[in-house]
Amino acid sequence: MVLESLTQTATVSSQNLDYDVVIVGGNITGLTLAVTLQQSNLRVAIVEAVPLEVAASRDRAYAISVFSARIFTGLGVWDDMFPDIGKFRHIRLSDGDFPQVLNFETDDLDNEYLGYVAEHYVLHRALRNRLESSETLQWLCPAKVQTIQHHDQSVALTIEQQGQQQEISARLIIGADGMNSRVRQNAGIGTMGWQYWQSCLTTVFRHSNDRNDIAFERFWHTGPMGILPLTDNRCQLVLTAPHAEAQRLKEIDEQEFVDLLTQRTGGFLKNIQLLKDRLVFPVQLMQSNRYVLPNLALIGDAAHRCHPVAGQGLNLGIRDAAVLGEILQQARDRGEDIGGLQVLKRYQQWRKTENLAILGFTDILDRSFSNQWPPMVLARRTAIWMMREVPPIRRFALEVMTGLKGKSPELVSAKE
Ligand SMILES: Cc1cc2nc3c(=O)[nH]c(=O)nc-3n(C[C@H](O)[C@H](O)[C@H](O)COP(=O)(O)OP(=O)(O)OC[C@H]3O[C@@H](n4cnc5c(N)ncnc54)[C@H](O)[C@@H]3O)c2cc1C
Repeated sequence: MVLESLTQTATVSSQNLDYDVVIVGGNITGLTLAVTLQQSNLRVAIVEAVPLEVAASRDRAYAISVFSARIFTGLGVWDDMFPDIGKFRHIRLSDGDFPQVLNFETDDLDNEYLGYVAEHYVLHRALRNRLESSETLQWLCPAKVQTIQHHDQSVALTIEQQGQQQEISARLIIGADGMNSRVRQNAGIGTMGWQYWQSCLTTVFRHSNDRNDIAFERFWHTGPMGILPLTDNRCQLVLTAPHAEAQRLKEIDEQEFVDLLTQRTGGFLKNIQLLKDRLVFPVQLMQSNRYVLPNLALIGDAAHRCHPVAGQGLNLGIRDAAVLGEILQQARDRGEDIGGLQVLKRYQQWRKTENLAILGFTDILDRSFSNQWPPMVLARRTAIWMMREVPPIRRFALEVMTGLKGKSPELVSAKE
């Protein structure tokens, strides 16, 4: 129903091709920004290369931080997501076979849950539902951006939709078009970063334990393994390993893989049954040299990308979208130019350093645990011991992981 009505609005008449904001990329970060701008009266277009059904159907689940949940609450979409989202009250962090386990509990955060796990379609559906009634939004979908020309006061785009080329213009273009962002590359914005020696293997499994409210992060010297609880006694596995090992784990017999998983979870999860194919992704760290230019801003993976350990990537993008949306709305209310560099730099100054800190945090976490050098092993085990024994340190680490450290936009709800 929802998709039908959205695709009906996807055809745009030629008299109506000028927008205040064009968002390139209709996935979670692009849609979050569109929802944030809903009350602003700005005329917004979303250009998405693939049909919305395809964009919605990505086979992935994400750890969603408490902070992202509060952004979604502030945007009025959380209640729609909540019934289909996995919730966890405990986090068990351990270093391979080292017997001391670090337990994070809800008392450490004074919150009902420590975090959430959402399948891609659940987030996409709720954001789209929210946008359905928007009168100032146009969907250009499926439509691919072909050329982008930056002028003094505007951006001109050529898009290809249903085999036809169209010219559209806007005051501001947003690159929410993922890691290989056309918007970023076309503007000549460079990046820094590296490929990791590891790949990430994901799958979904079911177990028969009578509880499913624990998230596990277990670090092996080959790479971290995260187990994130979904609804219906299912879990998302995110296992990082050197490329060849990840590929081997993808190809081994299903029973052999289940046995390995049982062994790596110490037999805690009973009767593991794989529900999805094993998928392998390369792992990369990337930070754009700038997030903004006149008439242009980057959000989400178009601006940065991090190691999947601790499940931060999408959460950073959701925060980018909320911050940028709020800054644009305030600029509009004050009569400022939303495409002006002065306005856009507020967004860059707010988010670029915060994101870099999290990129660094995930990199250090991965490197220090994927390491057998005895002084490093001693250092990280001492860190685990300190977090176990000193509650303020444990709480600080938890607040970083749940996104509660850092500056908060006003639209964020006090509780999810
Ligand atoms: C294995 C793995 C596990 C992960 N786990 C987590 C986790 O637990 N928690 C977490 O927070 N993050 C996680 N991440 C990171 C997360 O997947 C990404 O950060 C997130 O998907 C980025 O979203 P995005 O909307 O910025 O970009 P994308 O999801 O890449 O969306 C970009 C959109 O732009 C469209 N597009 C591209 N080019 C064009 C064009 N020229 N014209 C029009 N449209 C275009 C694409 O079709 C796409 O829909 C994980 C990543 C991996 C690889």
